[in-house]
Amino acid sequence: MTGSRPRVRAVISDLDGVVYFGRDPIATAVGAIQGWQARGIGVAFVTNNSSRSATAVAEKLAGLGVVVDPFHVLTAGEALATHIAVNFTSPRVFAIGEPVLYEALECAGAMLVADEDAEIVALGMDRDLSYRKLDIAVRALLGGARLIVTNPDLLTPADGGFSPCVGAIMALMTATVPRAPVTVIGKPEPGMMREAMRRLGVAADEVVMVGDQVATDVAAGRAAGIRSFLVATGIPLASQGELGGQSVIDSLHDLPID
Ligand SMILES: [Mg+2]
Repeated sequence: MTGSRPRVRAVISDLDGVVYFGRDPIATAVGAIQGWQARGIGVAFVTNNSSRSATAVAEKLAGLGVVVDPFHVLTAGEALATHIAVNFTSPRVFAIGEPVLYEALECAGAMLVADEDAEIVALGMDRDLSYRKLDIAVRALLGGARLIVTNPDLLTPADGGFSPCVGAIMALMTATVPRAPVTVIGKPEPGMMREAMRRLGVAADEVVMVGDQVATDVAAGRAAGIRSFLVATGIPLASQGELGGQSVIDSLHDLPID
């Protein structure tokens, strides 16, 4: 047993740009995932998207032909709520996000407030973002609140192009209040990867990670000690700067699962 790697028992995959692009499935991905599942390979999905619950993501995937238990879908919004439940007791939270984030925070025991008297500013994707919300958040941070962010992505695929994402809103807040303490929950932080491995019941050397972004997906996989692959079906590689020698696969069919 020198130098040989354990058999791959599971795959952890990103979603947007890997399994679908917005509403449209990536056909090669659906076929590849069905093939893994037929061979008994475990599959978990880890997404920085905080606009849908795990259950809603699983329903969307089922509609595309990928059947997965919501337990094996991890979203940054739900991970943020879990982080708050584990680390705080009934904190006052000013949240910027979409309804599913508010629901998850309430389930986590957070007291949602609508003014600057908050201990935590929880930030997720909010397509109804207003100056009013930014103003309350910045005032809370100036008052000493901690900023907890679902994900640092600057761009997200939308409507055939790319739209500003949570990282862009976070950049406004950290530029305005540079001393605010910040916690990032989603990729490239390794927490969601570790939770995915726990749910799959596999060790880091028994799983591979695949995503379409070096700075989030591959970085999170590496941080969790997982062999990670970049797939060229999503965010254009040319827009990602230095790939750091990362090996690129054309489709999920090329993921090396022996
Ligand atoms: Mg992606």
